[in-house]
Amino acid sequence: MKTILTGLRPTGNLHLGHYFGACVNYLKLQDEYDFYLEIADVQGLTDNFFNPEKVRHNVKEITIDLLSIGLDSSKVHFFIQSRIPEIAELTVFYSNLVTVARLHRNPTVKSEIAQKKEIFGNEGESITYGFLGYPVSQAADITCFNGELVPGGEDQMPLVEQCREIVRKFNSIYGDTLKEPEILLSENKRIKGLDGNDKMGKSLGNAIYLVDSEEEISKKIMGAVTDENKIKRDDPANPNKCMVYYYHKLVNNKENINKVCDECQKGTRGCVQCKKELIESMNNFLSDFRAKRKVYEENPELVDKILADGTREALKKAKEQMVKVKKAMKLDYEN
Ligand code: ATP
Ligand code: MG
Repeated sequence: MKTILTGLRPTGNLHLGHYFGACVNYLKLQDEYDFYLEIADVQGLTDNFFNPEKVRHNVKEITIDLLSIGLDSSKVHFFIQSRIPEIAELTVFYSNLVTVARLHRNPTVKSEIAQKKEIFGNEGESITYGFLGYPVSQAADITCFNGELVPGGEDQMPLVEQCREIVRKFNSIYGDTLKEPEILLSENKRIKGLDGNDKMGKSLGNAIYLVDSEEEISKKIMGAVTDENKIKRDDPANPNKCMVYYYHKLVNNKENINKVCDECQKGTRGCVQCKKELIESMNNFLSDFRAKRKVYEENPELVDKILADGTREALKKAKEQMVKVKKAMKLDYEN
């Protein structure tokens, strides 16, 4: 059985970007793979080091979200990154195999530094060693479990590529030890935000969260960006410039999607009606999730046990891998 390693940062709840960008593949693959799902608290701290409460709180929140979309804890090992010290050890070893210049050139790191001016300064002049190095730590996450497939969104591509480079360098110096992982993108590899921004993100304040209440969903959709040229109810418009149509395509059925598109183009559909229909479809889409989430909220000890069991399994696998790595690097003093 092949191994999957993937992860999410506990910096907030799951949003539609996570769900359609990455989690749909988790759901598809959980039966066929040995699946390790990392709650990446150490990585979460790289740009939240000043707010440890936020990261701690969201470890459980995001685990509950992931269980409530239908991931099965008897098939997926949910584990907490900081509880696997082998990952930190590997990060140190790999830090010799990547140049600082290469990390600065990583497109995902570059765009995230630009987004986080309040932490890293206008020109990225206050970037920390930890944040710049997070792709190295992510290479350690993947290879610590011999991850072969990494399902994720488009922003993960440069990170998996960086991991592959580190693996090749490691193997060429220390002998064939690590596997080169591959990324698996979903059909919707980058989900847009309510404001029309290219990426829905926790840090961008433009997300619809799976945990949002009916009132929150309604408020957010009512404020979503639509075609600015449509002013009156019966103006024809371009649905491809409208975030309401964009989300209809994610959660509605084919017949309704065609109807929305057609009526919008002809000018026989007002934006308010269209938004109300989307609110209804979104609530239908979320109803299963809400019911499952309630069970975990009422039984938090279930979640603690799932994390403890998954972390134990992950630790076993990480220790086995570490023996191989240390032997290859001639650090196997115990044997
Ligand atoms: P942050 O803004 O704190 O980085 P995030 O919303 O980007 O948070 P992550 O935990 O960094 O979330 O990402 C978890 C997974 O979800 C990754 O595989 C990432 O590629 C995917 N993902 C996140 N946002 C989107 C999006 N808008 N479209 C597609 N995939 C996404
Ligand atoms: Mg991110």
